[in-house]
Amino acid sequence: MNAESEVLLEVRDLKKHFPVRGGVFGRVSGQVRAVDGVSFSLRRGTTLGLVGESGSGKTTVGRTVLGLHAKTAGQVLFQGRDVHALGTAQLKALRPRMQLVFQYPYGSLNPRLRVGDAIGEALLEHGMAAAADVRERVLEVMHICGLASYHYERYPHEFSGGQLQRIGIARALALKPDLIVADEPVSALDVSIQAQIINLFSDLKEEQGVTFLFISHDLAVVEHLCDDIAVMYLGVIVERAPRDALFAHPLHPYTEALLSAIPLADPDAPRQRIVLQGELPSPAQPPDGCRFHGRCPRAQAACAQVEPSLRDLGDGHFVACHLHGAL
Ligand code: SF4
Repeated sequence: MNAESEVLLEVRDLKKHFPVRGGVFGRVSGQVRAVDGVSFSLRRGTTLGLVGESGSGKTTVGRTVLGLHAKTAGQVLFQGRDVHALGTAQLKALRPRMQLVFQYPYGSLNPRLRVGDAIGEALLEHGMAAAADVRERVLEVMHICGLASYHYERYPHEFSGGQLQRIGIARALALKPDLIVADEPVSALDVSIQAQIINLFSDLKEEQGVTFLFISHDLAVVEHLCDDIAVMYLGVIVERAPRDALFAHPLHPYTEALLSAIPLADPDAPRQRIVLQGELPSPAQPPDGCRFHGRCPRAQAACAQVEPSLRDLGDGHFVACHLHGAL
């Protein structure tokens, strides 16, 4: 099998609900349906952008894929192995191959540990390098991530936000992972630094063959990096397509609204900004019918009654909207 066509990750009808507790006895009074039936697959060496506003469930998808949250239902298959059916020892053995890059890397670094040691500690923990070889491997990934050798001896507080994110990426990369889940990795950075880190991810994909699940609230951030994009709204994927198709021909009204918010390089170019009314509804009580109908500028009467399913329109373009399928 061609490595590029190998499905590395397959997510099938994944659900993650969190109990809502209340009252003196802390009884369960409801469920937050953070992820409510999400399916996608990710081929080796490609990048899938998972996009949606805060509260859409995208971060929960990433963490449940990695086994950091127990699932409520569905399956996560990593190279055909069901991640949530593995025992503790098997999951620990799999952990180096599925890494997470955080939004705020400083919080995941021990302030008293030199960054070289922080990058190398997981190598020792997982027995992936002898103590004598760790420094060489660490310097290698630091170089790949644009860090200098002298940074090895420095402490986290001595670095800028962009450099800290490079350290976070180097720490994940040291373990030679097959999959990196990057959760809003540039949203805390200045725009000029964002571009540098996006370029680093792009180089890692091209030169190291890393597969990424790239989570972002900002479609503009994923535009140049991702092969495919899935748009989430209130716990479900509402549109999924190859990047170029999604940007050229968005089909879901929510995707259209997200795209209309991206600043154009030419400020005089004609484009109408679609401003969504209202707030994202609570995932504890998602609306009946289409979850987007209360904010959708193109809603029809039936949209409040029947939930649209994700339909395959061909060429890898999927959409969940009654405008694109029989009711
Ligand atoms: Fe809008 Fe109806 Fe389509 Fe939902 S199903 S996105 S409410 S048109």
